[in-house]
Amino acid sequence: MATVTGAGTSMSDAPAEAPLERVMVIYAHPDDPEFFSGGLLARFAADGKEIIYVLATSGDKGTDDPDITPQQLASMREAEQRAAAKCLNVETVVFLRYPDGELMPTLGLRRDLTRLIRQFKPDIVVTNDPQTYITRMGSINHPDHRAIGDATLSAIYPTARDRHNMVELWRDEGLEPHKVRRVYLSGTLNPNMRLIISDVLETKITAILEHRSQIKDREALIKRMRESLDTEFDDQPLYTESYRVLNLK
Ligand SMILES: [Zn+2]
Repeated sequence: MATVTGAGTSMSDAPAEAPLERVMVIYAHPDDPEFFSGGLLARFAADGKEIIYVLATSGDKGTDDPDITPQQLASMREAEQRAAAKCLNVETVVFLRYPDGELMPTLGLRRDLTRLIRQFKPDIVVTNDPQTYITRMGSINHPDHRAIGDATLSAIYPTARDRHNMVELWRDEGLEPHKVRRVYLSGTLNPNMRLIISDVLETKITAILEHRSQIKDREALIKRMRESLDTEFDDQPLYTESYRVLNLK
């Protein structure tokens, strides 16, 4: 597995073409971008890349509080997501507002994602690995995480890339085909790249802490994050994130 300190041009297998400047981050729930990919996104931001967030749901089921309505929670979580995005220099946050906990890789979701990919033309897409049913830690992966990864990969290829797929997007909306060049899959059981994030760990923690409605004990979370060293590096304390990276032809 490649271990790298830079998320962009330092990868040895990066094509020697135009630099990869624009990143679209597509996840199911507010807080997924920061928990899954906060280190990678902090590095992208430091590299000056433009980052666009797309959240399929607004996390309206994410509470045990019986007195809060789904609408109240959704608007709270959208505000938290915008604040967390600011910590990582993300200007654009798109909410598709599908119901939390019921996300499926439907053609409708694929069409919505394809439309955004063709509008924003990202070079890089970050999403969940849809193949993960059981996580590395032995827990059940949230089905919304599988659904968003599945729909996103299908949107990238073939639908966004090929003109006659969902032809109405081109014919009726004037959206030309677009080819994504690299995909980072998080939460994967089959990583091929490990990114060292030690220098941006505190930025990642700061962004995660903006999700106040999801954090019961802030100090315990900070402690857990700072103790989450990569145990494969015995000789030096390093923090990492692992990805399956696809370089698309
Ligand atoms: Zn989630």
